[in-house]
Amino acid sequence: MSLIVQKFGGSSVADAESIKRVARRIVATREQGHDVVVAVSAMGDTTDELIDLAHQITDRPDPREMDMLLTTGERISMALLAMAIKSLGHEARSYTGSQAGMMTTAKHGDARIVEVTPDRLRDALDDGAIAIVAGFQGFNRDSKDITTLGRGGSDTTAVALAAALGAELCEIYTDVDGVFTADPRVVPKAHKVTVVTFEEMLELAAAGAKVLHIRAVEYARRHGVTLHVRSSFADKEGTLVVAERGENMEEPVITGVAGDLSEGKITVIGVPDIPGKAAEIFTLVAATGANIDMIVQNVSASSTGVTDISFTLPKSDGELVLGALRAAKDAVGFADLAYDDNIGKLSVVGGGMRTNAGVSAQLFTALFEAGINIEMISTSEIRISVVTRGDDLTRAMQVVHSAFGLDGDVEAVVYAGTGR
Ligand code: ASP
Ligand code: MG
Repeated sequence: MSLIVQKFGGSSVADAESIKRVARRIVATREQGHDVVVAVSAMGDTTDELIDLAHQITDRPDPREMDMLLTTGERISMALLAMAIKSLGHEARSYTGSQAGMMTTAKHGDARIVEVTPDRLRDALDDGAIAIVAGFQGFNRDSKDITTLGRGGSDTTAVALAAALGAELCEIYTDVDGVFTADPRVVPKAHKVTVVTFEEMLELAAAGAKVLHIRAVEYARRHGVTLHVRSSFADKEGTLVVAERGENMEEPVITGVAGDLSEGKITVIGVPDIPGKAAEIFTLVAATGANIDMIVQNVSASSTGVTDISFTLPKSDGELVLGALRAAKDAVGFADLAYDDNIGKLSVVGGGMRTNAGVSAQLFTALFEAGINIEMISTSEIRISVVTRGDDLTRAMQVVHSAFGLDGDVEAVVYAGTGR
């Protein structure tokens, strides 16, 4: 008898009927003879609604109280799911993150898992029960406080449980059929891929693909947990996320196309073109804690001796970084700052890119033929990213998806979810 960890996202447990449907799925796995541990997200948009509510009380909710508030979302769904399973005649017990032994760092809203001690879950399994764990939350031993793992953190809960319990498989149930060649909400001709490597999945997640939480993929890679991303609405095989493709499985040049509208671009104008200026600027930026992404420096015109430096960063960090730079304007000696929050980032990712020289030319040609201007470019071994106008991103993704021959024959199904 093997152990399977199953994770159900918010749109899979959005209302009472959905919870009953998910309960039937869990019971079906149990009846096949497996031990089952479940990680569950808050119902539907509950987490967003709780955040909205907190902001109606205060502009700056206290981080400890925010975690107290947000963890209630998962407590609701875990208890209801346990009830639903019991009413199907199976034993089930729900556990909060701390009861399940999810020990984390102390940082509210963005805690990291440091240790998992799932003794109570093992006891439940020994008693023949299905264990239901509230996703996205943990406990810090020093502060003795409840923590959360950051938005979308229930994936990480599931993977950490699978690693700690030595599960055979971690199934991530969601509102699409698996990992797609692009977000089917944006590119209707996207199709499901059968297998993707951790490396590709990490690049796709970093490039804006939202199907899996990036930290969950990192955790799975580090602990060798095989993931199966699949729909909770249909009974089809989904996508396996694995360390390596099987020997006789061909590596596609492009596995997927991702888009991201969450970044903005800061340009530092008229920077003296002398050693040390980039260091000064990015030391200031680093001190804000902002995660910058792409950086471009232009060649300076010899007549002026000054250059422009542009970089992208999450829009949520835009004001903070602009403020830090503005305060150092005279010290650094640049002329001006510009901020652009209407940019889109498109990335193509694929392990086969490593051995294929023409990929950038093909990408740039597709964008050129669609009349889409490229503003910045960056590459890694298995990814090429370009910045376009934000308004062009959807069309850019569609033309690039076609150009790389990724279009499927049938429209992808999106079962639920507001994408909020
Ligand atoms: N409920 C949390 C969120 O919406 C965690 C999760 O769904 O994974 O971010
Ligand atoms: Mg959610």
